[in-house]
Amino acid sequence: MPNHRDFLFRGELAELDPDVAELIRHETARQERYLIMIPSESTVPQAVREALSSSFHNIYAEGYPLDETRTMSQAEILDYNARLPEYRRVADKRYYKGTEYADIVEALARRRAAELFATPQYPAEKLYVNVQPLSGAPANSAIFTGLINVGDTIMGMDLLQGGHLTHGSPVARSGKQYKVASYGVDPVTERLDYDAIRKIALEARPKIIIAGFTSYPFAPDWQAFKDIAQEVGAYLMADIAHVAGLVIAGVYPSPVGIADVVSFTTHKTLAGPRGAVIITHRSDVSSKVDRGVFPGEQGGPHVHAIAALAVSLRLAYTDQFKQLQKQTVDNATRLAAKLEARGLRVAYGGTGSHMILVDTKNVVGKDGTPLSGDIAARILDLAGIVCNRNTIPGDSSALRASGIRLGTPWITQRGFGDAEIDQLGDLIADLLHACEPFSYTGKKRPEPRAKVDFDVLQRVKSGVRDLSASVGIDTSAGDEDYPHFYYMDRVADVEDWTTLAIRDIGQADAGRFLQFALTSDVQALKAGEQQPTQVLEADGSVMARGVVERLAEGGYLLHVESNGSRVATWLRALSDGFVLCDPVDPYAKAPGPVDVSSYGQTDRDRVTVQLADVYAPKAYYVGLNGAQFCGTKPRRAADLPVDGTRRRRAEVHAGHRAA
Ligand code: PLP
Repeated sequence: MPNHRDFLFRGELAELDPDVAELIRHETARQERYLIMIPSESTVPQAVREALSSSFHNIYAEGYPLDETRTMSQAEILDYNARLPEYRRVADKRYYKGTEYADIVEALARRRAAELFATPQYPAEKLYVNVQPLSGAPANSAIFTGLINVGDTIMGMDLLQGGHLTHGSPVARSGKQYKVASYGVDPVTERLDYDAIRKIALEARPKIIIAGFTSYPFAPDWQAFKDIAQEVGAYLMADIAHVAGLVIAGVYPSPVGIADVVSFTTHKTLAGPRGAVIITHRSDVSSKVDRGVFPGEQGGPHVHAIAALAVSLRLAYTDQFKQLQKQTVDNATRLAAKLEARGLRVAYGGTGSHMILVDTKNVVGKDGTPLSGDIAARILDLAGIVCNRNTIPGDSSALRASGIRLGTPWITQRGFGDAEIDQLGDLIADLLHACEPFSYTGKKRPEPRAKVDFDVLQRVKSGVRDLSASVGIDTSAGDEDYPHFYYMDRVADVEDWTTLAIRDIGQADAGRFLQFALTSDVQALKAGEQQPTQVLEADGSVMARGVVERLAEGGYLLHVESNGSRVATWLRALSDGFVLCDPVDPYAKAPGPVDVSSYGQTDRDRVTVQLADVYAPKAYYVGLNGAQFCGTKPRRAADLPVDGTRRRRAEVHAGHRAA
């Protein structure tokens, strides 16, 4: 035993906090197995994450490095024999001691950013860089704090048409502290109209005009914006949060040297740590912005993030990085063309960047309901394609977005090229076209929803798995290793008896769920009892025969004679609530959600009742309408419910709506 006290918590994460360690394992598996198409996300290199978890995390460093370091080369900044004596003799601009290495790493990050964004007119020495903003929103707030007063007018792109919350949205600080004028796109061309923007600027006389977008996929004409800003006496602020990586690689025009101030996040296409950078070529703007960031907006900088930023900027000098950014844009362009060829409408008429906005409205249900962006995104997520709902021109509320936003940075970083993009485009189009939108009667307006064909969903899911595998992710491990990432063929062999456990989640009752999903009268079961049952397909044909058992301790076991994988996947899909489980009634929906987990091979000694073709006389169960109305399944008349109890749910719902 050491004879000193040791208050440090030594040990690995898995030992000290197995809960969080497990969460990280699941999140890592999700990121590997899903195709992530959020345009603002990147899979950040390990080296960057190493710097993020480094000892720089431990320190405070309020203030800034010496100004002189702005004009030093990287070699000069890294000359410890000069920098450390200088640090000791010349009081630095920090409020804390112990920042000699923090000074160097911040100066290095600033210099690398300046070199990467330098232009012939403004070489690195003439650019002023602040790498301290904690993220994009604080960076933008800091610019406002530094350059204008509360109550002044700012002018940015309308949130609903492509702007960001920080560009003057009424729900954000930008919209609460400043007067706001917004511009949008031309309703016909869906492109920026500089005459219209100029007119708004002349009327509103903003102090800052913001150009740069969250969901407008084309580059602006920076000079046209600058001319308008100059005419009305406003600063031009370029927010290139999304496209900083593309700008560095030269595949998107740079605003540096044109805009008075430029902000960008470092975790999107740049694939660096979460953070942001502000660059200006104007020294007067620089000093105001620096004060706006600290002490105006923030306290201590995140020095570990600055160190990690320095790493990602170093990587950004490479040809590999430039190729990646070019491929990212090429992939987006190709995907947009593919989706259009497959009959989906791409909003704004295409893309000139890493993102695509798909108008989901043109997938229309039988009752005329258009597919909502939210539902489209949720169904894609179920298949393993991760994106977000997004407003597009014509939408009137962020809550009722009629588009989805798809981005190519992450999948390109994982190696996607033409062939994978084409397959992915087909998977997305197949899935969206297989959606059957419909509406519930909402309190204020119809609530859009949609169901999707189960088999198409499964096919797209395995397509996602194959695509992930094709770019190097090993997805062959079983469900024991990745218990949350089920594929249809993973639960058991088709021919084997399999047992599934179905349990309540919160108020949702597994008995009511099974009453809906199985043909037997599950709710008549007492604790410990078993009954023969069947799982039917939506069309009424038999998916599996089995025995359902109510457990004394709560929950149910379902022992099925065959097809266990399909049954498990089907029951989970019924619980999720997005698959069509009735050929005539998209409203049919199981109570839930419930927990469906695999128990593995059935213990045959446990099964005490005989299998039988059971069709209990109850109002509804999955497959009833399939058999009754599609005639695919002959059944014994004695087992069918008596007339009147099998009104179709669609009719019931129509009755509610009429009432
Ligand atoms: N600016 C734009 C254009 C953005 O798209 C975003 C983020 O989506 C931000 C600013 C804010 O960045 P953060 O989320 O890091 O605060």
